[in-house]
Amino acid sequence: AKNSGKSNYKFFNQKMTDKLKEKIQIETTLREAIKKEELKLLYQPQVCGLTGKVVGFEALLRLKFHPISPAIFIPVAEEAGIIIDMGRWVTKEVIKQIAVWKEKGINTKPVAINFSAKQLNDFKYIDFLEDLLKKNNVTPKDIEIEITESIFLENKQETMIFLNNLKALGIKIALDDFGTGYSSLSYLTFLPVDKIKLDKSLNDKFLQLENIAVMESIISLAHSLNLKVVAEGIEDIEQHERLKLVKCDYIQGYLFSKPLEVEEAENIHDYRFLL
Ligand code: C2E
Ligand code: CA
Ligand code: CA
Ligand code: CA
Repeated sequence: AKNSGKSNYKFFNQKMTDKLKEKIQIETTLREAIKKEELKLLYQPQVCGLTGKVVGFEALLRLKFHPISPAIFIPVAEEAGIIIDMGRWVTKEVIKQIAVWKEKGINTKPVAINFSAKQLNDFKYIDFLEDLLKKNNVTPKDIEIEITESIFLENKQETMIFLNNLKALGIKIALDDFGTGYSSLSYLTFLPVDKIKLDKSLNDKFLQLENIAVMESIISLAHSLNLKVVAEGIEDIEQHERLKLVKCDYIQGYLFSKPLEVEEAENIHDYRFLL
């Protein structure tokens, strides 16, 4: 028993070392990728459940030459502070892309940008954003910022100032991953948000027939607060049918489309053929 304790410790230690090595490796990969601009964005359509029209996109970050998921590399980037540069790259890329679409005469739709709580440390982000919009002739209505509740674990006052500044610019704010935190409902009463995005886990549970009344209540509450509702991670027709019944505004999920390359995204305007 004495021995096994010791070897457990050693095993644990080895695992920690491996984890740390992996993290450092990811960090190095990320710094390289930013320096060489080996990042790219995919665009996932948000679709009106009733008409099948594409109402907007969410920009989702990828590394050009590494298949690693953002679910893995974003937390590493946040911890290492790399998220600041990364977040700026994403913002710039989205705005440049919208400008290109406008130039091509493509009827653009709002593109949502994920904003990490750690980016609150980027004090000049709003100035950076405003400047980019002006220089590219892109309006605040063309973009949207997605935040998660975790932003309130940072400085509450700073967060409110940041969000109010975005609002003052005319930029819409979406509360992402709704239903995964603890006090989601109470946040809605004071947060300056325009939209909530129901997390896949919430949808998978509350779109089941026996729970559908709860889903209906959430959506009706959101509507009474003048919020639009997007259901995320919708993969099957049955879920779509139920979302129509409970009057969910928009749908984002593999049922309609996975995240698309720019060239694919700019050619898709509706999914009526899937209704
Ligand atoms: P998220 O913001 O909740 O984005 C939605 C995720 O769900 C995306 O994963 C999307 O591909 C995936 N998804 C969409 N529809 C379905 C579906 O029907 N089924 C399933 N199983 N998944 C679906 P992705 O692109 O791997 O991104 C993972 C997370 O990484 C994002 O979650 C977001 O938190 C973060 N992320 C991605 N890009 C950025 C970025 O540019 N900045 C920041 N800060 N975070 C980002
Ligand atoms: Ca998001
Ligand atoms: Ca989400
Ligand atoms: Ca998420």
